[in-house]
Amino acid sequence: MMTGMINNIFFIIFPIVLYQMLAGAGKRNFFVDYRITMTILFSISIILCMLFPYQFLTDEYIFDLRQVPLIVGALYGGPVISAVLFVVSAVGRIWIGGDGMYIAILNQFVIAAGVPFIRPAYMRMERTMKVITVFVISILSLLFNMFAGYLLFGDPIHDIIGIWLMLMLNQGMMIVLTALLIEHIVRQELLLNTLMKHEKLESVSHFAAAVSHELRNPIQSIKGFIQLMQVYDYNREKQLEFHDTILNEINAAESLIDDYLIYAKPVYGELERMSVSDEVCGVLKLLGPYANSRDVELLCHKGEENVSIRGDRQKFRQAMVNIIRNGVEAMPEGGELVVRIKAQPAKVTVEVADTGVGMTKEEVERLGEPYFSNKIKGTGLGMMVTYSVIHQMKGAIIVNSEKGSGTVFKLVFPKYGL
Ligand code: ADP
Ligand code: MG
Repeated sequence: MMTGMINNIFFIIFPIVLYQMLAGAGKRNFFVDYRITMTILFSISIILCMLFPYQFLTDEYIFDLRQVPLIVGALYGGPVISAVLFVVSAVGRIWIGGDGMYIAILNQFVIAAGVPFIRPAYMRMERTMKVITVFVISILSLLFNMFAGYLLFGDPIHDIIGIWLMLMLNQGMMIVLTALLIEHIVRQELLLNTLMKHEKLESVSHFAAAVSHELRNPIQSIKGFIQLMQVYDYNREKQLEFHDTILNEINAAESLIDDYLIYAKPVYGELERMSVSDEVCGVLKLLGPYANSRDVELLCHKGEENVSIRGDRQKFRQAMVNIIRNGVEAMPEGGELVVRIKAQPAKVTVEVADTGVGMTKEEVERLGEPYFSNKIKGTGLGMMVTYSVIHQMKGAIIVNSEKGSGTVFKLVFPKYGL
């Protein structure tokens, strides 16, 4: 019995653990963000549970935990997924055949049809209430089995305490464990999202200062020209020249603000095609004022070919900002930071090289770890966010660094459409 039960437990846990490996930072909803994958995984776990049932206490009772993925899937996935899981379990059950087929299918139908109604309320519950709710659903479902079997098909109810109560406890405990595991994962996701927002707010406030400083230049010069035109009577030609200059300054200010807003806008989640050099240049432009204020010059070599990659524009920009900002911060005396974009047949590489303080091997290994920071006011979240974004885009990060002489971050992405 034990081995059989442990097998069933494994079948139930594995899609959830797999989910955690799949899901990158920034996901909000268990199941919903990977609807198709999760439905397939849950279907597999239902089928495996049915294929490998276990003997429960006596020889007479064969039991399996398929109701757990069915109930949990319906609760977290919603009506459509619930319907799919019902079809899978019903077909599986018919295929297995034997006694109790009708009652099992009827029971699965009631779960699949009923549980999605509880879902909206369930989603708003506190964790404890959720745990109680799944436990109660699981018990009701077994009670239904017991009574429907007795009333509709005349199945005898043996030993209520010895068998049925034990079954309820067995399945109830398992479903509670599953719900707790999922809730734990959801909580981690929430935490990671909050951290990402925090890190971003931090850089936004940094840039706001630099950008407003930078805006002063065009505003001053516009002001100057207007004052000049007020005082002197310029000829038409001269005036037009001034107008041009003023317009140029206004455009410069406008694009600075646009760049800043694109970065600060908190929209996440859309995968789109983007040009590497456009995005990287956008980020460099945005960081110009910041780098300037620290005596760092940002240089960009973008090569001939304009390559596209696929990803979430906002997140990609944030990742680039984090890397370049670290590079700037690594050069307290000022210097040059060079960004190189290189196109290869199937890949595109973005290199960010600074000539700053560098890192030891141990420090490089710790990059991406939350809260790893060597700065007094550092958060140690920038690299964590960056690594997770790049990995989500199926990119790779290679870091070469030498203490005292500088660091090269090499990001390798697959080209769009290949
Ligand atoms: P923070 O910048 O808030 O410290 P990050 O996650 O952005 O956090 O970076 C973590 C640590 O990695 C930094 O504190 C720094 O020690 C190191 N680091 C990252 N990039 C560089 C770099 N280009 N040169 C030297 N050290 C770096
Ligand atoms: Mg940083």
